[in-house]
Amino acid sequence: VADDVKRVVVIGAGYIGAEIAEQFSVTGKKVTLIDGFDRVLPKNFSPVITDRLEAAFQENDVTLALQQLVTGFEDAADGGIRVTTNQGTYEADIAVLGIGFLPNTDLFKGQVDMLPNGAILTNAYMETSLPDVYAAGDATTVFYNPTQAYDYIPLATNAIRQGMLVARNIDGHHLAYSGTQATSAVELYGYAMSATGLNKGSAEARGLDVVETVHEEDYRPDFMLSTTPVLSTLTWDRKTRRVLGAAFMSKHDITQAANVVSLAIQNQMTIDDLAMADFFFQPNFTQPVNFVGATALQAVSDAQNKN
Ligand SMILES: Cc1cc2nc3c(=O)[nH]c(=O)nc-3n(C[C@H](O)[C@H](O)[C@H](O)COP(=O)(O)OP(=O)(O)OC[C@H]3O[C@@H](n4cnc5c(N)ncnc54)[C@H](O)[C@@H]3O)c2cc1C
Repeated sequence: VADDVKRVVVIGAGYIGAEIAEQFSVTGKKVTLIDGFDRVLPKNFSPVITDRLEAAFQENDVTLALQQLVTGFEDAADGGIRVTTNQGTYEADIAVLGIGFLPNTDLFKGQVDMLPNGAILTNAYMETSLPDVYAAGDATTVFYNPTQAYDYIPLATNAIRQGMLVARNIDGHHLAYSGTQATSAVELYGYAMSATGLNKGSAEARGLDVVETVHEEDYRPDFMLSTTPVLSTLTWDRKTRRVLGAAFMSKHDITQAANVVSLAIQNQMTIDDLAMADFFFQPNFTQPVNFVGATALQAVSDAQNKN
């Protein structure tokens, strides 16, 4: 962005808005980040994690304008833009929108079955309701394993696998889609963050009765020359003890942990299965009990304490 841009308003504190706000702030722009939710990255992470991220935004002089909805834009007298919310106004040289996504499927309306938002419904072989017509990617629904229901979650990870499935299944039912956990990751202010499945808020918004276990420990023993904490959350079904989601945050790159829990969700494992899973120990890389296993052990202990 040109050097004469000094003030930026970013609207939407999801992954894209958060990354844009972070990058503008580290290049010295005065940033305001607006979102209707009460925290940043609300759909991916619980408050225990987003509280720390918000502290990092504030340390980098980003104004967090949360729990407010943008209602309009106007040209400002100085040639910039004035963004109005239901709680105030923010002036900047530019405003960036990182809000919402819709499937671009008008062309197929009335011809194939869709969700109300226009996402095309497919079966596990990527066939639409119209014979010999297949669909994949952001245009389609995905089967979301944590809820065992079709959902709209546009991610490249889904699009790539669905595209491969169309090719495999174009001449018959050869390989079924294994669904998604919407596993994702982001790096902000040196924090590596990753998430898979549901967090407590997103589970409860879907009517699920869950427990969220929070665990924090160093990723490797403190007799090593350096180590740093990993903050983990594990979301599990109170009744069945099935693992439904997890999230991780650290200054060390622990992002692959979300992929581990993604497999646990896909294979319908319980907190008890995950607590006893075989993960390696080598002090360069991990504690004797890896932080994923330790978080699951803590969940088993939480379950006992709650009964
Ligand atoms: C800023 C940003 C960051 C992202 N980061 C990630 C990430 O880190 N990880 C992740 O998993 N996902 C990420 N995503 C989501 C990811 O980009 C999408 O899920 C993925 O690109 C979907 O692939 P697709 O092929 O379905 O659609 P697209 O990549 O959108 O491709 C569709 C193509 O079809 C063309 N097209 C549309 N209509 C027509 C028409 N009528 N005729 C001809 N051509 C047409 C379009 O021009 C486009 O080229 C990100 C998205 C954004 C916007």
